[in-house]
Amino acid sequence: MNFHVMTLFPEMIMQGLSSSILGRALERGLISLNAVNIRDYTLDKHKRVDDYPYGGGAGMVMSVDPVVRCYRAIFSEITRKGGQKEKKVRVIYLTPQGKTFTQEMAKELAEEEDLIFLCGHYEGIDERAIEMVVTEQISIGDYVLTGGELPVMVMIDAISRLVPGVLNNGNSAEFETFHDHLLEYPQYTRPEVYEGREVPEILLSGHHAKIEEWRRKQSILRTKEARPDLLGRAVQEGCLNKREMTFWRELEQGWE
Ligand code: SAM
Repeated sequence: MNFHVMTLFPEMIMQGLSSSILGRALERGLISLNAVNIRDYTLDKHKRVDDYPYGGGAGMVMSVDPVVRCYRAIFSEITRKGGQKEKKVRVIYLTPQGKTFTQEMAKELAEEEDLIFLCGHYEGIDERAIEMVVTEQISIGDYVLTGGELPVMVMIDAISRLVPGVLNNGNSAEFETFHDHLLEYPQYTRPEVYEGREVPEILLSGHHAKIEEWRRKQSILRTKEARPDLLGRAVQEGCLNKREMTFWRELEQGWE
């Protein structure tokens, strides 16, 4: 998976993603990260990349030309490397106005070979740049940040851990929060007792089937508590087995 990021702050992206699991994935060549400075593509002699908004209003707007030229340079590099004349590459603009990013979207994007991201700054980007290069707009949540750099790092992190080989344990991305629309069960590690708080006995029993059943029930309980909307989807989409459905019905009727 090759990530290409158009940004005014490439060092932020490179530093932010070069440690820990992603750092190792980069070293092992499982993912690549190409943060490109949009400022390198301005023709302005003072290297300006923004200007006042037409019609007035607060703040500055990123200009169309450096963004389009930056995109074209990245796109031709991708097609040159792939030895292709034309190739469809998805270009994602990070914006609070986009569709909210989800685990499902991360899974789908992890199937791509190349992804191009566009980070805005200031008051945003000249609309024509969005019309000309962007294929989809994604938000990381209903709040406004100063730039698209943190959002793109969030997205790259979430997508990368779904790329085969990035996580050591192949199961760990599969059976965790949002799998089957459930939140993950509580986790414990040593010591067995900490300041009087004990690890649930079942987890020490070595009885794998019972542990699995306990964990699924805990997941259902947690999801009901914190995200009843998700639990509704789990039920609707048939993600719970017969026993779990009985448990869910009991919970709905107020028994625990
Ligand atoms: N004026 C814009 C608006 O009201 O929609 C907001 C611009 S914001 C201050 C600057 C840049 O930060 C945006 O162009 C976008 O790239 C990024 N950004 C801010 N909040 C975001 C969010 N929740 N998700 C994704 N990107 C975000």
